[in-house]
Amino acid sequence: MNVFTTSAEVHAWSIAQKRAGRTVALVPTMGYLHEGHLSLIREARKHCDCVIVSIFVNPTQFAPNEDYDAYPHKEDDDIALCEAEGAAAVFLPNADEMYPRDASTWVEETVLAKGYCGAQRPIHFRGVCTVVAKLFNIAAPDVAVFGQKDFQQVAVIRRMVRDLNFPIEIIRAPIIRDEDGLAKSSRNTYLTADMRKRALSLSRALFAAKAAVDAGERNAAAIEATIRETVTAEGWIPDYVNVIDTETLTPLQEVLPGTSAILLACRCEGIRLIDNILL
Ligand code: AMP
Repeated sequence: MNVFTTSAEVHAWSIAQKRAGRTVALVPTMGYLHEGHLSLIREARKHCDCVIVSIFVNPTQFAPNEDYDAYPHKEDDDIALCEAEGAAAVFLPNADEMYPRDASTWVEETVLAKGYCGAQRPIHFRGVCTVVAKLFNIAAPDVAVFGQKDFQQVAVIRRMVRDLNFPIEIIRAPIIRDEDGLAKSSRNTYLTADMRKRALSLSRALFAAKAAVDAGERNAAAIEATIRETVTAEGWIPDYVNVIDTETLTPLQEVLPGTSAILLACRCEGIRLIDNILL
């Protein structure tokens, strides 16, 4: 497996793959890899001949009060995991490689990025779009795989790809959870044992909402209120809980099974978790 640290190496490698008739899939990550990330590599391998995983904690998507400096790292383990999953290459740039000191160009999606996580984190999706657009130009993939765990992120990236004519297919891979339901996340490492136990209320509330919808419930306000009660009872403060349309991300008053999802973000003692479920 190749381990690259410069954009030039990655670009040359990708172009060489294509000249040799092989397709390339990109899996962008911030590292501290877990089973969720590995599922994206497996999904990517189904679609393309070779997979490149980028590992880069992108400073431009963190606000000054967020956890950029505390974000967990374990690069050596991450490289070994990528190799074990059959990735062909890993791209591990540093911030200077990705951003010239006087970089002054941004990529910003201005509609889907506004609500939900974008409302609480106003510069977040601008940073995400900018770094993903750069990774797309650097790695020139045929396919890129993102997790449903970050539902709004995939919607924003799909819109950017459409609007800016990136010739790249975007795949959304399902959420991987711990056995007890907690969605896997690099940030789960911040949870104390007690907080983790109480964090199970997020997935429990979403599963219960899905069961209610399967049993005929359609009233979004009622579903959202029940979820709020469930997580609040366990000490989690909801940032947002919304039944939404999966394409436009607009909040719905009535669930439309097949095209609706519930998006959820909660905070507790400075830690913020997100989760979602398709209805
Ligand atoms: P991150 O390293 O958190 O930026 O995530 C990199 C990619 O992995 C994103 O596309 C995430 O949506 C995806 N991802 C993170 N956690 C999970 C999970 N539990 N299941 C599936 N995909 C995930």
